[in-house]
Amino acid sequence: MKKGELLYEGKAKQVYLTDDPNVIIMHYKDDATASNGEKHALFEHKGELNQRITKLIYDYLIEQGIPTHYIKTISDTDQLCKKVKIFPLEVICRNIIAGSMAKRLGIIEGTVAPNTIFEISYKNDALGDPLINDHHAVALGLATYDELRAIYELTAKINLKLQKLFQMIGVKLVDFKVEFGKTADGEIVLADEISPDCCRLWDAKTNDHLDKDRFRRDLGDVMGAYVEIYNRLSEALKK
Ligand code: UDP
Repeated sequence: MKKGELLYEGKAKQVYLTDDPNVIIMHYKDDATASNGEKHALFEHKGELNQRITKLIYDYLIEQGIPTHYIKTISDTDQLCKKVKIFPLEVICRNIIAGSMAKRLGIIEGTVAPNTIFEISYKNDALGDPLINDHHAVALGLATYDELRAIYELTAKINLKLQKLFQMIGVKLVDFKVEFGKTADGEIVLADEISPDCCRLWDAKTNDHLDKDRFRRDLGDVMGAYVEIYNRLSEALKK
């Protein structure tokens, strides 16, 4: 598959066209950003680690019946994926209160939620990805109510599967962000990465942060945490 024109460049990834109009190449970069791009750094091998972690998680989710855009990994940093039309929404799912929710609502970080909390924000850099609700999303034409229903249902399923997977490796899945897209045949599928960049992952015994909060909060040894997650996942999912 030939890498064609650069279709899109985000903070941590690039998307290239290929000679197949229904297939793209997703390239994982070493860049890390936080606070809407105000904080930026490069971490050697981050792209490779996130690609490897995403691959392990997607293989597991696909085996568990979750529809995704992932086709296969073609190099340390590159994946072939179905070309989808991305819903401009960040779908956040929380099991333990942390980060922006803890701050906004004055809740102690680490409080276990009695329910699963779903949030959506509008993917729009200029506006700083504002938190919105379903009615805003429909009014803005970002998704229909039926599409939102399907997206929440899939997110809930993904949460259950991921909670089980991370429990197996001694990690609490605090929260995560996912994105969805629509394929050429109209199927809604999970898209984008699932890695320590977009999940909060706490060690079950020590509550150590094994995710991007190490970068956001200057906790040090950012890549050590990503390697730890990769090693535990690859050991648990060894065939
Ligand atoms: N998240 C993400 N991209 C974003 C915002 C959030 O991947 O642009 C992830 C983040 O890593 C965490 C979850 O979504 O796992 C919830 O993030 P939160 O709303 O608490 O925001 P933050 O504290 O990161 O500002």
